Order: sequence, then C-alpha cells, then structure tokens
Amino acid sequence: MRYLRTITSYSPFVLTLIMMSCVSLCGAAQPTDKVMNRFVDSLMERMTLDEKLGQLNLLTQSDFTTGEKRNHGFEQKLRKGHVGGVLNMVGVDKIRQAQQVAVEETRLGIPLLFGFDVIHGYKTIFPIPLALSCTWNMETIAAAASVMTTEATAAGLNWTYSPMVDICRDARWGRIAEGAGEDPYLGSLVARAMVRGIQGKDYYSANNKMMACVKHFALYGAAEAGLDYNRVEMSRNTMYNDYFPPYRAAVEEGAGSVMASFNDVEGIPATANRWLMTQVLRNEWGFGGMVVSDYTGVSEMHAHGTGSLGEVASLAVGAGVDMDMVSETYLNTLTDKDIKYINHACRRVLEAKYRLGLFYDPYKYCSTRREQDSIYTPAHLEVAERVAARSFVLLKNQDNILPLTGKEKVALIGPMAESHGELLGSWCARGDWRQTENVRQALERRLGSQNVVYAKGCNVYENLALNHHASYPEIDMRPADSMKLEAMQAARQADVIVCVMGETANMSGESASRANLDIPDAQRDLLKLLVTTGKPIVLVLTNGRPLSIAWENEHLNAILDVWFGGSMAASAIVKTLYGDYNPSGRLTCTFPQTVGQCPIYYNHKSTGRPPLQNKWFTKYRTNYIDVSPLPLYPFGYGLSYSQFSYSPMQLSATEMTATDTLRVSVTVRNVGQRTATETVQLYLRDLIATTTRPVKELKDFSQITLRPNEKREVTFLITVDKLKYYDHNLNYTAEPGAFQVMIGSNSRDVETTQFILK
Ligand code: BGC
Repeated sequence: MRYLRTITSYSPFVLTLIMMSCVSLCGAAQPTDKVMNRFVDSLMERMTLDEKLGQLNLLTQSDFTTGEKRNHGFEQKLRKGHVGGVLNMVGVDKIRQAQQVAVEETRLGIPLLFGFDVIHGYKTIFPIPLALSCTWNMETIAAAASVMTTEATAAGLNWTYSPMVDICRDARWGRIAEGAGEDPYLGSLVARAMVRGIQGKDYYSANNKMMACVKHFALYGAAEAGLDYNRVEMSRNTMYNDYFPPYRAAVEEGAGSVMASFNDVEGIPATANRWLMTQVLRNEWGFGGMVVSDYTGVSEMHAHGTGSLGEVASLAVGAGVDMDMVSETYLNTLTDKDIKYINHACRRVLEAKYRLGLFYDPYKYCSTRREQDSIYTPAHLEVAERVAARSFVLLKNQDNILPLTGKEKVALIGPMAESHGELLGSWCARGDWRQTENVRQALERRLGSQNVVYAKGCNVYENLALNHHASYPEIDMRPADSMKLEAMQAARQADVIVCVMGETANMSGESASRANLDIPDAQRDLLKLLVTTGKPIVLVLTNGRPLSIAWENEHLNAILDVWFGGSMAASAIVKTLYGDYNPSGRLTCTFPQTVGQCPIYYNHKSTGRPPLQNKWFTKYRTNYIDVSPLPLYPFGYGLSYSQFSYSPMQLSATEMTATDTLRVSVTVRNVGQRTATETVQLYLRDLIATTTRPVKELKDFSQITLRPNEKREVTFLITVDKLKYYDHNLNYTAEPGAFQVMIGSNSRDVETTQFILK
C-alpha cells in the first residue's frame, strides 16, 4: 500500500530513475553507493543550472525565526524548483503539503529536506546539552537523543541541527550552554553518543531516525572574549589537539551533515575556508556527507570583508559548503563559472536525500498517527525526569543539609521558583511552558501548600531594562523593597530557605554573551539579606554556563546546580532535594572565581613560571595579584549525598613500550550512608615533549554505583594510543619519556604516580 501510494506521487521522470534502482524498490535496506551514484548521475544529467542551485537553497519558513533575515515568496520558489530544503517548518500537515508540491508539482519532483534545531528536545525537553554532558553517561545521552529524534521525526522533520560539539573554555560565551563543555575526550564521546541517538544504525528505512548535523565547524566556541560570532585566533596545534576531536568523532560516527561556523579560522571565514571544509573535513577525515552554511553565513561574509555577494558565494561553494542557509546568495548570484563546485554541492545534497530514503518514500516522516501518538508521551517525560536528575551537580552541601527530611517548613524564594518557561532553557524547540510544572507547584505537591511559604523576592535584575533582555518571567512592578520584605517574612517563618535563582533561559544560548558572570545583582542582594536571618539556605541554581558564585559558595549552606533541566526539571529538582535521587552530575566546564579568569580550563598548559602550589600569589609567577590561581569548582567536580574513599593507585609496571598495555587500578569504597554513583577519572600528563603539553588531560573514566560500604576495583588500561598527540608538525605521535598518571574524583583532587614510555 505504502509503496503504491509513494510510487504514484512521483513525477514520471523520478519514477523512471527509481525503477532503474531495483534495490530501492525491493526493500528498505540502504542501497549500495553504486546504486545511489547511478541514480544521482542520471538525475543530475537532466538538471538545469537553476534546478541545481535550487537544491542548494535552504529557506526558513515559519512563524518564528532563529536569525535576522526571513525568506519570502516560498510557494513560488518551491514550485519553480528553487528550494532544496526548509528549516523551522514543523508539523506533519505543513510538511506534507510542502513535500507534495516539491514531489508532485515541480519538474523533477525532488523531495525536500526539513531541518530544525532539536537541540535538547522537540516537545519533551531534556536538560540543555551542557547539563546533559554533566551526566558523563553516554547511554543516558544517546537515550535522550533518541527520544528527541522520535518526537522530531513524528512531527515530520528529517534533519536536526545537532549535535553542537564546539569546545568552549570561556563561560562568557552564551553558547557554551549548547555544547559538552571544555574537554576534547569527553566532548568526542558525547558527540558520538548524540549521533548514535539521532541517526541510529541506518536511517534509510527508519522513520524515527533522522540526519544529524555536526556544528559549528569549526572553533566557534573559541570566539575572542566570549563574544558571539567573534573572530578566532588559534594555532593548528591547538585545533588538532583540543578543538577538532569532537567534530571528527561525530564524522567518524557517521554524521550525515556538518554546519559551517560563523567565525573566521586563520583569517578566512569558516564558510569560505577551503582548507577547513575540504582538506581537513573531507580529505583528512573522510567525511562523505553534506555541508550547510549557518544562518545567512554565506552573505555575512560580505560584512566580514571578503567580497561582494557574488564573490563570497563563489568562495563558499568552492570551499565545499554545499547548502546556503537562508541567504539565497547561491541561488541569486552563482553562475556557470562555478559549475564544477555547484555540481559537487548538488550531488551531495541529493545524496543526503537519497540516504534518508526520501526518494524511496518522501512522506516517510509524514504520519499523522505518529504525530499524535509519539510526542510528549508519559514514557518520554519519565525519561526526561531521570535524565534531568542525572544532570544536576551538587556543588556544596555543608553539614549534609541536603537531602531535606520533609519535616522542615520551607521558604521558597526567587524569581525562578514560580517560572515554568525558564526551566526549559534556550533552544527549546516546541517545548511548551504551559505544560511545564514549576518548582513551587512540584514542592507544594510534595509537602502540601501549608508547608511552603513562597515569595518571589526580587526580579532577575535590579535594572528593569536588563530584565527585558533577560527574562521570560513577568517583571514584578512592585517596589524592590516591598518584595524583599515579603521574602524576609517568609524566611523567618521557615526552617530552611530554598532559593531558586540564577540565570534565565534567555541569558545563555545564541547571542547571549555576558561580560559579568555573577548571579544578577537583585538576586545576590536578596541572598545577602536572607543570610542575615541565620537560617540555612539552599541555592537551586539555574544557569546555562559556569557562573562566578564565590560569594554564594562562601555564605550559603548548599548549592545544587540544576542548569535548565527541561520539561520535568521541577519534579526532578524536588525529588533530588528530598533524596529520591542522589546527585551524580560532574562538571564538564570549569567554574571561575571571577570573570577575569576567563578563559579558564583544567587542561591548560604550564608556563615557564607556573604558580606555586598552595600559594595565592608569588611575584614573577603566572598568577593574578587579586585572585588566587584556582578555579572555584574544577572540571570533573560534583558531590553526592554519600562519600567515597580511594585506595592508593596500583600500576602494573613503571615502564611500557609502544606495544604494551599498562593497567592502573584503584579501589573505590562508598563510605557514606546512601547508594551513590561515582565517576572515577583518569588523567595523564606528558612531562617532556617536543611541544608543550597540558598539565593534565582526561583519558578515561568509569561510572560506578555503590551501596553503602560497598567497594569496587576500577581498572584503566593505558595503551600507546592514550599517549599520542599532534606534535608541532601535526604528526600524531607518542614521544618516549615520563608520563604522570592521575586518578581522582575530579581534575583537582587526584593522586599521582609516574611511568616511562620507552
Ligand atoms: C545558529 C545555528 C542554528 C541555525 C538554524 C543559527 O543562528 O547559529 O546553530 O542551527 O541558526 O536555526
């Protein structure tokens, strides 16, 4: 039935081509490349220049936008074959209609791609990617990605602009929220898990898997001064060792597409950088998929100062960027002069569509039944709650004040305590704040409203103009003093104060750079006041980036970082506060004491004058005069409601050759009162090399769950692969000499020993 319906909907021409491709007709298995090439060759032979350029044209079409420019005249362009794909259109009805025009009413009947930013969920929203990475659990991440994909594909989509794998070491950059933090090793594992969750093994026949798009290639997270879209200055050595690995991992995992970044790389915008897009991506890494520009990334090269629109289009297609997102510069300016590159690009777009099975069944994602049955289901929400709880990071828990017992009377305070939308975070797709429970509701559901005294206490910022930039929550127009008074009255009635404070969803994500990483003033001022009550204070911190919360760390009793936890954040938060969930998240980005330390990251290099251990400041050393050299919370850090002890490390040998495997073991015991999960981390340092090397690098980790008093031996294997890096000439090599090996519960608290590579 499906086959017949599909077949009759094709233009006679494409139908003939499909007939030639017996495998496509016979079953759902992905046809061989030979069959695909034959199909694409024949199709391209019949395409005019205009139709080829049409395939490279990706237009935005919706009521909302993810950039400045909108596209107009969509219907006409579509009928003329001037559209290769659409972004931001969602819903089976709309997508089916557009697909029908493309397939049944254009000369060649080529189906469309439908792309959308499903960054941490479609309608069931998961924690923001930075939070997801804090689970350090790849099955959890892949499972979350899989649910997101099930929902997105049920809404008609076949392409997601995810995963975002940009390494970021500077919390001023708002888009740190969208990635997996600062570490290339962990970032690569997350990139792979995301691609697996999104694409599955083979999306040719599956209608619940889609094409992933790795972004933003490359180095976008290293924008100077953390300022979005800003230039990037970086050595190739740093690119290859620290910033490239996650992109490469995603490519190796089979990601079908890659998105070019907005920034320049070595003085050439990534979108026009042939070295990056062709030499590195295709020739070195063997990427065989399609490259798309970012939103108007092609035309923006004019403002970068690299040429007229015609010139930049020609540079971009020549560099290897196949699809032009929104700017329409390819369609409007490219000519026969660039036909060689236009042909390459067109082929790759057609191949992407072919691999998605769209020539076989252009409506495979258009099932109204799936749309009704597979989105925002109780099962998906259940996964979302568990994942949210796993992403929370317990930063402080003085005197084990958490978990709460349930007997305390609680004062719930703060601008995020009653907000629904803030919990979803930025890029929350079709997430619906109206259906999202807030913390107040979840707490009252648990304790009964008589045991919760609520006061908003303050707006996000003191300055109302800043509130307008930052907030979804309604601005409270009451005088600040009367709000504070109300909060103090609430606090005085309670045994414990729970503050839900921090950033709003809009304060991170795209175009949300900050020059100050403190909790906004109005909230910190209120906290200062609340501290004077002498009551214990638990801060439930909402944030899309590391914040400089040294004051809070010093003065509050507990801090639970809940990021933006998504649709089920509120119940996950409350259950965690009361111990139903035991926090196990570990930071994947360093928290600075103050913004002036940024960029700050654990895997930095040593200078010739490193700071002295345990010294705040020493003259002629690499340290600030006004803040200690340490971060506030290091990479890998996070507490639980239990504690772990580590035995001394056992090394199987103190020397190894390039063919040996060294075993390094440690026994970890749960010495606390509750079952808890620990992430045991292995770091290495190459002590002497021809190129300067980081002071430590994560090389492996193991997540174990132990009951009280249970112990387990954790063993890591060190082979020469773990010792390799890109040297000055970009040879991937392991150099003989001494290495430090470190194991611990985070990047700071490690035990160290040493071995020699002969
Ligand atoms: C962002 C991308 C996103 C694209 C499409 C751009 O502004 O940089 O990450 O995928 O818009 O929405």
